Amino acid sequence: MSNTPVAVVTGSNKGIGFAIVRALCKQFPGDVYVTARDTGRGQEAVAKLQEEGLRALFHQLDIDDLQSIRALRDFLKEKYGGLNVLVNNAGIAFKVKDTTPFAVQAEVTLKTNFFGTRNVCNELLPLVKPYGRVVNVSSLVINSALKGCSQELQQKFHSDTITEDELVKLMTKFVEDTKKNVHEKEGWPNTAYGVSKIGVTVLSKIQARMLNEKRKGDHILLNSCCPGWVRTDMAGLDAPKSPDEGAETPVYLALLPSDADGPHGQHLSDKTVQTW
Ligand code: NAP
Repeated sequence: MSNTPVAVVTGSNKGIGFAIVRALCKQFPGDVYVTARDTGRGQEAVAKLQEEGLRALFHQLDIDDLQSIRALRDFLKEKYGGLNVLVNNAGIAFKVKDTTPFAVQAEVTLKTNFFGTRNVCNELLPLVKPYGRVVNVSSLVINSALKGCSQELQQKFHSDTITEDELVKLMTKFVEDTKKNVHEKEGWPNTAYGVSKIGVTVLSKIQARMLNEKRKGDHILLNSCCPGWVRTDMAGLDAPKSPDEGAETPVYLALLPSDADGPHGQHLSDKTVQTW
């Protein structure tokens, strides 16, 4: 088993994830893994980094596929005895003009952004070593999405005692409500992406609380963040930030020094804790 520190970035064959790997290759003292659902695209990304003189490794990971997540888990356990840095970056968004029915968009978006990210966390968080860092990439759209929620839902999402089960039930209910076309009546906003990222942000707060309760002495720091509006296939060419600029806050959180006692359980943008 290798004692080399290891960092894993989900959805890192392109966009912000790729830029996070690029920065980690330069700054993280250990092995850095590009992961991608498509092996060809992942290996191309590794080759591109190699052309830049950077050494990244590759492992397949489709966050929609529990078997794929477990294969990565077993690999990390066997080869490294765990992991030191996990960046949950993989995500999807339908384009504004997409005519796919809203209920389908809700199911597909929540499946990857919330349920997929949660599955990765459930399988990999127990492997995170002391002084590990976990970063869940969310978005500042949560603010407008939360404003579009009923007072009752807002209270639930802001609660300091909400459990993971309760959050999962709420995210499941959103998808079911869109299928019955009652989501607005039930207090949900008209944004599947926004709801999925509320889910990621609230999940992060819950996970940080669980770490405080169960692994306090391990000094693991877990946060969510917004990369900003970044020029990628997801956000388009008009966005002001380059992918490398978008990677700055996730990388800052991934590399918090071992003597840092925070941020933890927070949501950050531009390396600054945000209230939401
Ligand atoms: P992107 O260029 O579309 O890249 C998304 C990445 O996620 C791709 O590598 C994609 O792989 C991967 N992915 C999607 N579904 C996956 C799955 N099931 N399993 C594994 N990987 C999967 O988007 P981006 O702009 O870099 O976004 C990265 C993260 O930042 C997302 O979580 C996004 O919501 C968030 N974000 C972006 C912005 C922005 O302005 N760009 C703003 C706020 C938050 P494929 O190549 O196989 O599709």
